Amino acid sequence: MTKIIKLDDALSNKIAAGEVVERPASIVKELVENALDANSTRIVVEIDEGGLSSIRIVDNGDGIDEEDVETAFYRHATSKIRTDRDLFQIGTLGFRGEALPSIASVAHVTLTTSTGDGPGTEITLEGGVIKHKKAAKARKGTEITVTNLFYNTPARLKYLKTVHTEAGNVSDIMNRLALAHPDVAFEYSHHGKEVLKTSGNGDVRQVIASIYGRNVAKKVKPIEGQSLDYEINGFVALPELTRASRQYMSIFVNGRYIRNYALARAIQDGYHTLLPIGRYPLVVLSIKMDPKLIDVNVHPSKLEVRLSKEDELGQLITSSIKQAFETESLIPEADTRKRTNFASVQSEQVSFDFETPAPLKQDVSVGLQVKEKEGWSEETVSSKISINDEEMKPNSFNELIPKQSHTWSMNENTVTVEEDQIEESDEEVENLEDEQEKNHDRVPVLYPVGQMHGTYIIAQNETGMYLIDQHAAQERVKYEFFRDKVAEVSPQVQELLVPLTLECTVQEFALINEHIDELHAVGVFPEQFGKQAFVIRSHPVWLPKGYEEETIREIIDYLLEHRKVNLGKLREEAAILMSCKAAIKANRHLRQDEMFALLESLRKSSDPFTCPHGRPILVHFSTYALEKMFKRVM
Ligand code: ADP
Ligand code: MG
Repeated sequence: MTKIIKLDDALSNKIAAGEVVERPASIVKELVENALDANSTRIVVEIDEGGLSSIRIVDNGDGIDEEDVETAFYRHATSKIRTDRDLFQIGTLGFRGEALPSIASVAHVTLTTSTGDGPGTEITLEGGVIKHKKAAKARKGTEITVTNLFYNTPARLKYLKTVHTEAGNVSDIMNRLALAHPDVAFEYSHHGKEVLKTSGNGDVRQVIASIYGRNVAKKVKPIEGQSLDYEINGFVALPELTRASRQYMSIFVNGRYIRNYALARAIQDGYHTLLPIGRYPLVVLSIKMDPKLIDVNVHPSKLEVRLSKEDELGQLITSSIKQAFETESLIPEADTRKRTNFASVQSEQVSFDFETPAPLKQDVSVGLQVKEKEGWSEETVSSKISINDEEMKPNSFNELIPKQSHTWSMNENTVTVEEDQIEESDEEVENLEDEQEKNHDRVPVLYPVGQMHGTYIIAQNETGMYLIDQHAAQERVKYEFFRDKVAEVSPQVQELLVPLTLECTVQEFALINEHIDELHAVGVFPEQFGKQAFVIRSHPVWLPKGYEEETIREIIDYLLEHRKVNLGKLREEAAILMSCKAAIKANRHLRQDEMFALLESLRKSSDPFTCPHGRPILVHFSTYALEKMFKRVM
């Protein structure tokens, strides 16, 4: 065997550097965190060539004593913890004592520091070796310059991306640091050009404005919440402002940016069906807790931490976000101005994609039948009745029109939602009514004036005009209907004309068996049929008419595809699936009474602003905006 030896310090530092200093951005992170730990209130970061040619960080913090300056560059040398008890209650961002030696081992470093009493100290290292150390004039604080990064680790240098990408990564880190520490004034520049500047006045919304732009800052809502162990606060963007990546959810625990899948999930759950599939919210969330409840020592760059009682925290986050949107009217205003000029937003940011529809095109005016008087009468309606029966399944649409909401004589065999729900307990009904009262304020009564391209309903009230996506609207209504239905304990069942046989693989067979209770709970009743097949003979009466078999198959497919599902998720998925099938499609002509009934049902739903896939249902054009468009006002 080859002899075992203990590696010298220089080599072990280089090895450690492999973990801690991956790229310029990780160096900036470590150094700014040091400045924050030293109680700085102002931190300046300047980089060149994406940080590859130089990184300079100046702070106004506590500084380092002359006698400690060398020690700071030793491996595992730190002023932040003393005993192993401290390791389990970390109150600082750093504690491993690895950053300075690691960075110094792969670059040229000059550090000038002063504690404010007496002269300061300057030390220079190259590849971890001290070149000189001398007294220097310095203001209180620390300045550190890192050049020739990775000059002695060519493989690492090669692995780095373009200047642009590295600068983007630094920018990303700086954004998070600034969001986590609104009470510190940050200045960050690349090639002498200012990229980020914050005032340090403690206002997170202002930091959001500096990073994401003022328009975004106007569309975020504050949230806060508290539980026994946790305190959270932050800002959540309105659902109309979604992003294509999870990047825009920033989670901080005691001032430390962390990545945590479960908490990101909890945020998304807070938005529930307000987000379109594949879109993510913009959120800044700050969590405070007793440091004893976190284990920070699980990841070299401390990006991941272990939290005790993560579930409790997740629930607190979800409910705080839900609360923030509960009372909010989320109808987006149509952007009647030119499209926002994104060029003014800092180049590092991914361009914004507002989910509001593009500005009105000419077509809108075509279908617009403005009435002389507010509202509409039965006469005008009957004179407009024209049903395009081709695409209309018997009962499929009328079924969902509540009788109370309008006075139109409906087809005799119309089944209404309300009738179906009569069995509900009084208490539930009361709750429902409370909820509905609340929602009435969130979406006002709307009077349809016409339909455009068989797809959009044009409606009005005293505040202006509304465009409503009829499919999305009915999907929302149906979704809430089915969501309640699948939660019913024992549904009334109906036999299938021809039993449905499902053949499957051995694994699929096991999976279905394993989830048989959940499937029953959403109205799918597979019975074992031999070793690799199931037969389904019946289904609840309320499955979307004409789509019973398809719905059952898709629910099973969903299970097979996702393998692990809990009842809550499966119910939601089933309800979404059913609502999509049952909702009126685009290109279906609607009578005026049908439109009104649909709008009323929408108003009574608990989330009237987005379809279950998170797409917007209605857009508002205020009278003022319209007048501006037509230059009636300036
Ligand atoms: P850690 O931050 O884990 O303690 P570092 O290697 O990053 O380890 O830093 C070593 C020590 O150097 C710190 O514990 C701190 O005492 C000191 N130090 C580093 N940067 C600064 C700074 N900007 N201001 C004051 N002290 C600093
Ligand atoms: Mg440190």
